[in-house]
Amino acid sequence: MNNTYKNVKLASLNGLGRTTVRVGDLEVGNGLTVIGGPCSVESEEQLLETAVRVKQAGADMLRGGVFKPRTSPYSFQGLGLKGLKVLEKAKDITGLPIVSEVLDTRDVRWVSDYVDVIQIGARNMQNFSLLKEVGKTRKPVLLKRGMQSTLEEWLNSAEYILKEGNPDVILCERGIRTFETYTRNTLDLSAVPALKELTHLPVIVDPSHGTGKASLIEPMSLASVASGADGLIIEVHRDPSQALSDKDQALTPDQFSELVRKARIVHSTMEGLV
Ligand code: PEP
Ligand code: MN
Repeated sequence: MNNTYKNVKLASLNGLGRTTVRVGDLEVGNGLTVIGGPCSVESEEQLLETAVRVKQAGADMLRGGVFKPRTSPYSFQGLGLKGLKVLEKAKDITGLPIVSEVLDTRDVRWVSDYVDVIQIGARNMQNFSLLKEVGKTRKPVLLKRGMQSTLEEWLNSAEYILKEGNPDVILCERGIRTFETYTRNTLDLSAVPALKELTHLPVIVDPSHGTGKASLIEPMSLASVASGADGLIIEVHRDPSQALSDKDQALTPDQFSELVRKARIVHSTMEGLV
């Protein structure tokens, strides 16, 4: 059948039905799931204000990093536990499930008590110890594509998680490194329909890291939905110019709200076509 990659067994489509991943009352893979929030949790006021605006815009989940994988050790590293407590408060206020990244195997268990979805970032896509550790939890995992990774390598990473007994993996295309420098990464949207041929797992797209430029995020979000993505994850900041990480790619809450409105129109149009 579709078993193009011989070691991709559990993640392979193999003629079986698609998987949806349940997060609270949501089902990722059924309809369009929109995740919004800041790159980093910076303070209680910043996160709570952004969370409320993201909710008002019609998002389904809230993102916010508290352990940041920064290129420089001198850059803001995240608030850690303090940030998780702020995320918990935002969930209490808005009802939005929380997505947050874990960098270290030692943090997987205790952090999974605070978050609804564990994010594995691009830089850790082939951190096999971390993949095994999240595979031992019963929390859904958002697995980002490594910036130098092929689809085969990415699906093998999903396989590590599934093999440990955790069936809830969501793939996230976030752009790969190419010779192009105008954009931060090259968003590989062909990965979306390609993955639909290869795997039963839901696929979402991150045009924020995929382009690195606020002006390109809405068009690439709409293109992601048109290409068949099950969801979007978008960085939103109440005041992008003040963001402590990834400020060039942060949308304002108003820009995010417009994006969500248009993305839902594209999604229902696409559904009408099939
Ligand atoms: C992030 O989501 O803030 C992040 C660091 O993403 P990536 O791992 O895709 O670079
Ligand atoms: Mn970021």
